[in-house]
Amino acid sequence: MDRLTSPSTINAIKKRYNFYFNKRYGQNFLTDVNIIEKILEGSNITKEDYILEIGPGIGTLTQFLCERSAHVLAIEIDKNLMPILGETLADFSNKTIINADVLRIDISEELSKISGKQFKVIANLPYYITSEIVMTLLENKLPIESITVMVQKEVAHRMVATPGTKDYGSLSVAVQYYSRPEIITIVPKTVFIPQPKVESCVIKLNVLDNPPVKSDKDEFFKVVKASFSMRRKTLLNCLSSGLELDKEQVTEILQKSHVDPVRRGETLSLEEFATVANNYISFKS
Ligand code: SAM
Repeated sequence: MDRLTSPSTINAIKKRYNFYFNKRYGQNFLTDVNIIEKILEGSNITKEDYILEIGPGIGTLTQFLCERSAHVLAIEIDKNLMPILGETLADFSNKTIINADVLRIDISEELSKISGKQFKVIANLPYYITSEIVMTLLENKLPIESITVMVQKEVAHRMVATPGTKDYGSLSVAVQYYSRPEIITIVPKTVFIPQPKVESCVIKLNVLDNPPVKSDKDEFFKVVKASFSMRRKTLLNCLSSGLELDKEQVTEILQKSHVDPVRRGETLSLEEFATVANNYISFKS
């Protein structure tokens, strides 16, 4: 079987199908087997695994996934790629290809049609929607055990960031509430055609069975959102405007939580956010 990582093979396919890269869909195709191997190794794929691949493109990674897993469900938005995937994945019977926008379908229903088991997600997506897709997958309590995804390098750094560092923010808290993130590898621009403007990282999010902190989810995220609402402002100011409370009321909640009101949101750990949220709940009731 022809591997699809060689630029000349990709160009030949493009020509044969009269296919043009669609900027709107963020199409940058992988051309490096070593990176593919790192993605496969990092996501620990075995013959027993069910895979959800989002954005298979011309099927470069999909071929490897079909060879090494039980079944691959691939969701691709671009209908012009359907005939190409039909050809490049023709040798495999353990695949299901859906032409759809992953953000507009019932993912849970599509997964359950394939198997009742847990899925591993693999995705190399357009940078502008990666965070939205990752958060959709994490927030919706889907049967997903891990998400291995290519993201802009800066986004990967924000996902793994610890309190008090410059990259730490609401994305770090949200990702770490649902998963344990780990950077698998840095990916240079040169391994894609066409080349993107930014460097990438493959990051693996190991989905947690339960959040690492105990607090009502909605109130926790309300406090987190308010805390990060104004970057260089103190928690006292952020929470008082975000939660619509007097400064005295916020001071009381923060003192009970042993958090100094002059600290900034970007220094709080998940445990501290949970404590503040719990004291906010007690205050309201
Ligand atoms: N996985 C292929 C690779 O590594 O060579 C292609 C990667 S390319 C960066 C992103 C792919 O995601 C494209 O094939 C694009 O058409 C597809 N895509 C973009 N937005 C999508 C969406 N909302 N739902 C499903 N697929 C999408």
